[in-house]
Amino acid sequence: MANEHASSDVREPGTDFIRDIVREDLAAGKHRSVVTRFPPEPNGFLHIGHAKSICLNFGIAEEFGGRCHLRMDDTNPVKEEQLYIDAIQDDVRWLGFDWGTHFHHASDYFEQLYAWAEKLIGDGKAYVDDQSAEDMRIARGTLTEAGKNSPFRDRSVAENLDLFRRMRKGEFPNGARVLRAKIDMTSGNINLRDPVLYRILHAEHPRTGKDWCIYPSYDYAHGQSDALEGITHSICTLEFEDHRPLYDWFLDNLPVPTKPRQYEFARLNLTYAILSKRVLTQLVRDKHVSGWDDPRMPTIAGIRRRGVPAVALKDFVKRIGVAKANSIVDAGVLDFSIREILNKTAERRMAVLRPLKVVITNYPEGQVEEMEAVNHPDDETKGRRTVPFTRELLIEREDFMESPPKKFYRLSPGQEVRLRYAYFITCQEVVKDADGEVVELRCTYDPQTRGGNTPPDGRKVKATLHWVSATHSVPAEVRLYGPLFKKPDPDPSDFAGDLDPASLEVIGAARVEPSLAGANSAAPVQFERLGYFCPDKDSTPGALVFNRTVGLRDTYAKEVKKG
Ligand code: ATP
Ligand code: MG
Repeated sequence: MANEHASSDVREPGTDFIRDIVREDLAAGKHRSVVTRFPPEPNGFLHIGHAKSICLNFGIAEEFGGRCHLRMDDTNPVKEEQLYIDAIQDDVRWLGFDWGTHFHHASDYFEQLYAWAEKLIGDGKAYVDDQSAEDMRIARGTLTEAGKNSPFRDRSVAENLDLFRRMRKGEFPNGARVLRAKIDMTSGNINLRDPVLYRILHAEHPRTGKDWCIYPSYDYAHGQSDALEGITHSICTLEFEDHRPLYDWFLDNLPVPTKPRQYEFARLNLTYAILSKRVLTQLVRDKHVSGWDDPRMPTIAGIRRRGVPAVALKDFVKRIGVAKANSIVDAGVLDFSIREILNKTAERRMAVLRPLKVVITNYPEGQVEEMEAVNHPDDETKGRRTVPFTRELLIEREDFMESPPKKFYRLSPGQEVRLRYAYFITCQEVVKDADGEVVELRCTYDPQTRGGNTPPDGRKVKATLHWVSATHSVPAEVRLYGPLFKKPDPDPSDFAGDLDPASLEVIGAARVEPSLAGANSAAPVQFERLGYFCPDKDSTPGALVFNRTVGLRDTYAKEVKKG
């Protein structure tokens, strides 16, 4: 059901600056059709920032009748795994995008990239450098200080070729040598100060196995992969803006089949989250979360497990737009999109998180009435169901107060309320245990209010409570999630102290209406008055587990004030 809404308007071409460029290029006949790509490095699960990039790249291809490639930027075998390659495909598909036959890998081009590296050497535009990593770093200079030429910079073409071939053959240990482009150690752009093209890494690659022990750098692989695939618009985030001259340098100095152009947009930042695979990897590795798909994680897998429909994520991405200036988006915006979609699509159910027993003393023992309940207040097509009403019921503990303040209209001694779809009840007596804790309410009901309707005398009540039958409801575990971090701006380099230990609250003894028994569809539901929930993957027909996807109201506004 996740993809049944809003896809029609997501397809409408947008008007951000990148789409404007694409539109103009197509109108001017620069390209027959637009070709984009989403190029993740398979070193972790995708996060919501990647979702923005996916929606942009695949969205443009869809809207302008072009195509978008999914390309694994698999140039660093030390950090990359098949697990991540699979997860990335799952996530992009779940978002509703299709790369058709265009699933590619930078490693598909290793042989070509190698041949082009030899060409650069032959043209005197690349050399093998034996400096240590530390010496190279010092010689690179700073933003205000020019770099210094390497003592190995003027090696002959023959010597460079020989060394580079021996690097490939595996004659040298990791880090012994690198291949560098010979550009300009005094360039104002540090990326042009003889960047590294190849490094030695004796590591097994998920796809090429032990074929290689030298691997291309991101910069050397990326633009050429784009060119080989005929990418027209290579869209990336702003931190690559300074890499663009290098991107173009490779394309200008190699016999590439096409000349893609790189465009940069602002990455997504979100309050209460850190959108960085490095940090997310640490959270998983150090067991701050249960895994990559922990529902508190800002990963696409986590968001999905929490019950967020793909259309809500796409709605969010559309809402925040594409710009050239970095900014931070309030996490409440995402929740807003989720509520917008779920309010329309989620069926209503009743569940009680923290039950308090209610006995209807004037209701016949053993009687069960099937009360009719609508599945959606604004959508009759979603139909109706029945909810069993019995003498013993459960209500939410917080819906009762023994000595209520003035404006508390829910249940209290002597107070009458409506039980949704059922009857008006009045609290007659409070039963407590030895510790003085309220364990049961003894109430009476008015048979003339069946269905929750106003009685003939026109009596009104001010509160309507949700409830379940004590005897016919089903036990469930409910997991409530808050933001993983206490602060809206956790420190990415030192975040452990910013983690909120209260971000997961497990409610072990919730009860849900029997229609949810065996809830094995992943469809999200609204628990009336509580929020939107969906069955978790840990759920079994015998032991239900629900995740709270989002509450009914914005809680971030409040939290900011508190913090
Ligand atoms: P991270 O910083 O989380 O490790 P990354 O940029 O290293 O992310 P890649 O796998 O290289 O991750 O990213 C794939 C694509 O997704 C790139 O084009 C990158 O620009 C884009 N991307 C990554 N993070 C964001 C973000 N927060 N917002 C928008 N796009 C992003
Ligand atoms: Mg990256």
